[in-house]
Amino acid sequence: MEKVIKPQASKGAEEILLTQIKQEFTTPADAISEYLELVEKNIEETGIKVEDEIEQIKSGCVRLIDQYEEAFVLNTGPNATQEKKTPEEYSELRHNLRTPLNAIIGYSEILIEDMEDDLNEQSLSDLQTIIDLSREIEKAIESFVDYIRGDSSQFSEGINSQLESAEALFKSLGDIDYSIELDETLVGADILIVDDNVTNCEVLERRLSLQGLKCRTAYDGTTALSEVENKTPDLILLDVILPDINGLELLKTFRENHTSDAMPIIMVSAFNDVDGIAKCIQLGAQDYLPKPLNGTILLAKVVSSLERKFFREREKELVNKLHIQATTDQLTGISNRRVVFEKLEESFDMLQSGQIKDFSVVMMDIDHFKNVNDTYGHSGGDAVLITMAKTLDDIITEPNILGRIGGEEFLAVIINEEGEDMSAYCDKLQDAICSNTVEYEDHKIKITSSGGVANSAESENASDLINKADERLYDAKKAGRNKFILD
Ligand code: GH3
Ligand code: MG
Ligand code: MG
Repeated sequence: MEKVIKPQASKGAEEILLTQIKQEFTTPADAISEYLELVEKNIEETGIKVEDEIEQIKSGCVRLIDQYEEAFVLNTGPNATQEKKTPEEYSELRHNLRTPLNAIIGYSEILIEDMEDDLNEQSLSDLQTIIDLSREIEKAIESFVDYIRGDSSQFSEGINSQLESAEALFKSLGDIDYSIELDETLVGADILIVDDNVTNCEVLERRLSLQGLKCRTAYDGTTALSEVENKTPDLILLDVILPDINGLELLKTFRENHTSDAMPIIMVSAFNDVDGIAKCIQLGAQDYLPKPLNGTILLAKVVSSLERKFFREREKELVNKLHIQATTDQLTGISNRRVVFEKLEESFDMLQSGQIKDFSVVMMDIDHFKNVNDTYGHSGGDAVLITMAKTLDDIITEPNILGRIGGEEFLAVIINEEGEDMSAYCDKLQDAICSNTVEYEDHKIKITSSGGVANSAESENASDLINKADERLYDAKKAGRNKFILD
C-alpha cells in the first residue's frame, strides 16, 4: 500500500493551510446560498414561475457542500485514510466534487437568459455573482485535491506558495514572545469564542488561556445564545459564518440586550471586504480580526477591548460613588444640604411655571441635643441623629424631600398637591419623633423636636421662605420646645 507523502511542514503550518483551503471553499459556497436567497425573494415578489430552476440551484448547493464536507473529513485530519489513491481516483474525486457546480452555473445562466426582461437588475447581477463564485469554488476544489494528493512535486504553484506563507506565518508566530503582561484586573476575564471550526477554536483558546484568560467555546449560533444567557461574557470573538445563525444576525440579537460597553464583540472572519467590516461595526461590533489569525494582533485587540470594558465599568462605579458622596449625608444616608436647597429652588420654578400649585418648607431641630451628647457621648448623639433621619424619611416620601442641613437640623420640602393640612402633617412628624425610642448601648433615649413651617404663598424666593421657617422654629424653642409653629 503506497502512503500519501505530505509536504514537509510543521503541524501548526499544516493546520493553518488546511483551514485556508477549507475556507476558500466554504466562503464562496456560503455566499452562493445567501445570494440565492436574495434572488428568490425578488422572484417571489414579481410572481414569475421559475421554481424548478431555483430548486435545481438549491439542491446543487446542498450536494456541493455535503460532498465537500464528506471528502474533507475522509481525507484530512487524524482519521484520514493514509492510502494513496490512483491518479484516476483523484480525477474522479475532483469530477464528483465539481459536478454540482454544473447545475448551479447552468441554471443560473438559463435564468439570466430567459428572465432578462422579468427580473430586476439587482437579481440579474446576483445571478452573475453566483456564477463567479462557482468559478472560485472550482479553483478551491482544485487546491483541495492537490493538497490531499500530497505529492509536492505535483502541487500547483498556488498551493506551494500558500504552504510557504503558512509556514512563514506559523514560524513568525512561534518566534514572537507574545506574553503581554496582563493587567491583573484582566486575568480570569471570561471570553466566549464562537466559531464552527473546531481547530480555530482550539488555537484561539490555547493562545488566550496562555495569557490567563478564561475561554468558553460555542460551535454554532444557538449554543452561543445560550452561553450568553447563562452568563454574560466579558468579550465575544464571533465568526461571521456559522452553520445555523449568520454571525451578523447573531451580533444584532446580542445587541438587543447587551451594550457594546457591557459586552464587547470582535468579529473574526476570512472576509476581507471593507464594506463587510463596516457593517459589523455599524451593527455594534467593536473590532475586527481577519483570518488566518495573527497571534500578536489577536492579543492586542483582545486586551484593548477588555481594558476598555473594565475601564468603563470602573469609571461608572466611580461616577456613581462620587454622585452618592456629593448628594447624601454621610452619617444618616439621607439627602444633604445641597440637594434639599436645590429641590427648594426647583420647587419655586415649578410653582412659577404652573407645574405645582403650592408647597411648604419644614425646618426641624432636635431639642436639647447638646444634653444627649453630654449624657451619652458623641456616638450616642450620632445614634439619635440616624434614628431621627430614618423616622422622618419614612414619612416624608417622594415627591417630597428631606435633608440634613446641619448638626441636628433637618429641612423638608413638602409639595402640597392634595391640599393636605400641614398642621396635621406636622402632628404626624412630631408624634413619630416623640414616640421613638433610640436604643443605644444599655440606654433608651427619648427625644423631641421643634419645627417652623412656611408656605410658598408667603414668599417670592427660597431664602426668604427659609428665614420665615427659621423664625418660627426659634419661636417654637422660645415657647417651650416640642412644638411646630406654622404661622
Ligand atoms: P436646642 O434645643 O436649643 O436646639 O438645644 P441644642 O442643645 O439641641 O442645640 P445646640 O445648637 O446648642 O447644640 C447642638 C449640638 O449638636 C452641638 C453639637 O456638638 C452637636 N452636633 C452637631 N453635629 C453633630 C453630629 O454630627 N453628631 C453629634 N453627636 N453631635 C453633633
Ligand atoms: Mg437643637
Ligand atoms: Mg441647633
